[in-house]
Order: sequence, then structure tokens, then C-alpha cells
Amino acid sequence: MSADPNCIFCKIVAGQIPAKKVHEDDLVVAFHDIAPWAPVHVLIIPKRHIASMTEVTEADAALLGHMNVLAPRLMAQLGVTDGFRQVINTGRDGGQEVFLLHMHVMGGPRPWAKG
Ligand code: ADP
Repeated sequence: MSADPNCIFCKIVAGQIPAKKVHEDDLVVAFHDIAPWAPVHVLIIPKRHIASMTEVTEADAALLGHMNVLAPRLMAQLGVTDGFRQVINTGRDGGQEVFLLHMHVMGGPRPWAKG
């Protein structure tokens, strides 16, 4: 599916609701989380609607690699110098609340609020 009209993150991709974007390219958008757990907390999402990691196939390997390559670059760009955490929540028992695959990337001085 390319876009889900009920998906809040698809609306961010489409520019229909605002987000503090820090990166955009052909494959992904990255933006600041609206309720950060850490001093720097961004989400990296694919532009294509992939509901969760359970929908990922071999054809998405380059996309997932791209997200992982981007994460440290964004942290450096945002001034995170002493490490960060990457998290992907999958499914309800995995703590996923927004059903478009997203990678949390969190950094900055501890302690953090959650995680
Ligand atoms: P959880 O809320 O348990 O972290 P998810 O892994 O599904 O579940 O994460 C969804 C994330 O999306 C949350 O961290 C939430 O703060 C963030 N979020 C929800 N709506 C927006 C929005 N409009 N702009 C930015 N971040 C958002």
C-alpha cells in the first residue's frame, strides 16, 4: 500500500499535518517525535506505507539499511556526541501505537524519561 488515509504518519509524509522534519529523501522522512523520551528523539519512517516489521520482505532490505545508515548521521547533525539508541516497536505487544513502521532514534544526556 502506498498510503493509508487513516495513518497519521502518511499524513506527515504527504505534508497534510505539520512535523519538525530533519531529513527527507526519496525513501524516508525523519522528524522530531512530538512526545520525546530523550533530549533528542527523532523518528525515521518510510514514505511507503509499511505497517510494521512483520510486513517487511527481502525487497525492503535496502530501505532498512538506508534507515540504519541515516540514524547516526542525523544524531551527529543534531549534536548527539555520546551515543544513542535505535528502537523499532512491532505490534501491540511490542508497544507499537502508530501502524506505520518507524525507527525511534534517541540520544542526548541521560537520564531519559522512558526507555
Ligand atoms: P509508543 O507511543 O509506545 O512509542 P510507537 O512505537 O508506535 O509507540 O511510537 C509512536 C511515536 O509517535 C510516539 O513516540 C509518539 O510520541 C509519536 N508521534 C505520534 N504522533 C506524532 C506526530 N504527529 N508527530 C510526531 N511524533 C508523533
